[in-house]
Amino acid sequence: MREKNKKEIVTPKVVDAGDFSDIQRQSVEGGQPVFGKFECPFCGKAYAREAAFLRHTCRKKEIHEEMNSLAGKTAFILYNKWMQSNHRPQQDVSVFVTSRYYKSFFDFSEYAKRVHLYHVDFFIKVMNNLRLEPSSWSSELAYAAYSDAIKELSPLQEIGFSIECFKSLKRNNHVESDWQVFEKIGIFRIIHLIEVKHLSPWFLLIFEPFSIFYDSLEDEQQEEFGMILDPKEWGIRFAENPEVLDAGHALIEKEL
Ligand SMILES: [Zn+2]
Repeated sequence: MREKNKKEIVTPKVVDAGDFSDIQRQSVEGGQPVFGKFECPFCGKAYAREAAFLRHTCRKKEIHEEMNSLAGKTAFILYNKWMQSNHRPQQDVSVFVTSRYYKSFFDFSEYAKRVHLYHVDFFIKVMNNLRLEPSSWSSELAYAAYSDAIKELSPLQEIGFSIECFKSLKRNNHVESDWQVFEKIGIFRIIHLIEVKHLSPWFLLIFEPFSIFYDSLEDEQQEEFGMILDPKEWGIRFAENPEVLDAGHALIEKEL
């Protein structure tokens, strides 16, 4: 691989803010002997010995590697979602990597994955309403504000959010049938998701695959859901809000 790279022509040059996409296409290991030297295509630092060159790292090379990672790519998408939510134009990668928000979004991308942030657009909206800068987004304070805002949703919004959450669970758990998503994540995770309002009873109790899963459980497993999904209590709510159920069914039909 390295032999092959040696034959490629890589023009060593100093990266400036405007040409990151060119740099992205170059191989980091593609340093060429130029006048008997190996030069980093990102910062221009030159080495006489290839071994020393291969050990070289610099911030620009790190950014290149970060932007080729899933976290980096997600960070870039999140950055543009944020720009959009502020009615500002979409930016390209070269602007993002030199932006003062680069690190914040890179951290936030990893944070969002760690805490299973299912509703990123909503999260950004809450942050904007609170005028919280992206540097503060990967924090308990931000998450608490987001959780509180979720608690204020209307039943139909809860159904919409649950659909988003379910789609994400489905993507991450490779199973054949929808009801198996529930089987795969297990009772306690489902209960937790109900408690934090990522999966709402408004959704679960009208979603056929959940009924299939629920019916497959032993009695004592069903009892785990007792307080949260009390059939009597929910039966009353459903009877009082037939329009929510109709709209919910339509939304599920459309989205899932
Ligand atoms: Zn370098």
